[in-house]
Amino acid sequence: MPLKKNARALPIPPPADRRRFRQRLLTWYRRHGRDLPWRKTDDPYHILVSEIMLQQTQVDRVLPKYAEWLDKYPSMGVLAAAPEREVTETWYPLGYNIRPRRLQSIARESVAKYGGQLPSDEATLLTFKGIGAYTAGAIRSFAFRERAAILDTNVARVLFRVFIAKGDPKGHAMTRHLWTLSETLVPMRHVFDFNQALMDFGAMICVARNPKCLICPMKKDCRAYPFTPGP
Ligand code: SF4
Repeated sequence: MPLKKNARALPIPPPADRRRFRQRLLTWYRRHGRDLPWRKTDDPYHILVSEIMLQQTQVDRVLPKYAEWLDKYPSMGVLAAAPEREVTETWYPLGYNIRPRRLQSIARESVAKYGGQLPSDEATLLTFKGIGAYTAGAIRSFAFRERAAILDTNVARVLFRVFIAKGDPKGHAMTRHLWTLSETLVPMRHVFDFNQALMDFGAMICVARNPKCLICPMKKDCRAYPFTPGP
């Protein structure tokens, strides 16, 4: 089957390489990681709000809205009961207005079925409309401190460049492989820091255009180093 063939062509890095990657990433994060309000909470609702806001919006625009939102809707119950129009207006000017509607529908479902809480198991989280594999991994690792992987655009770019650097980074088989890679890399301890570090690293060092290879702690082992942008 093509997937098997692909799995042979894209091996998982050996344990020593994975260990080195984790150590370098965590060391970098402890010095340079961003101080963000959703990193100071393990409330699943707060984490959910931050993750949905960050899906299409830069951190600096999310920061004031995150504070305003939680002030106005401090719990799933309050959000579930709010008028829909008001919820969309409160979201302004973040855009992509499907997001506040999804957030409210998740809140309503959690109130109806789970007492206003989010469940921690992946299968149940994935039954919510608006919670995909990435958001489920973020909620499990950031709120419940479980050993769960994440893969968004930033994380996929980092893992692809460091460990693969060949082929179509956005292909279906590659995405599956990158998920496997992310799952294999998640450490037993410090899962929260590790996943936050991956996101910061993709947002601050291994950025899409002009990654900062010269100051990058991964450059010794990075397969894409020195990164040269395509035509
Ligand atoms: Fe990204 Fe460059 Fe660092 Fe490789 S060396 S991880 S391409 S910034």
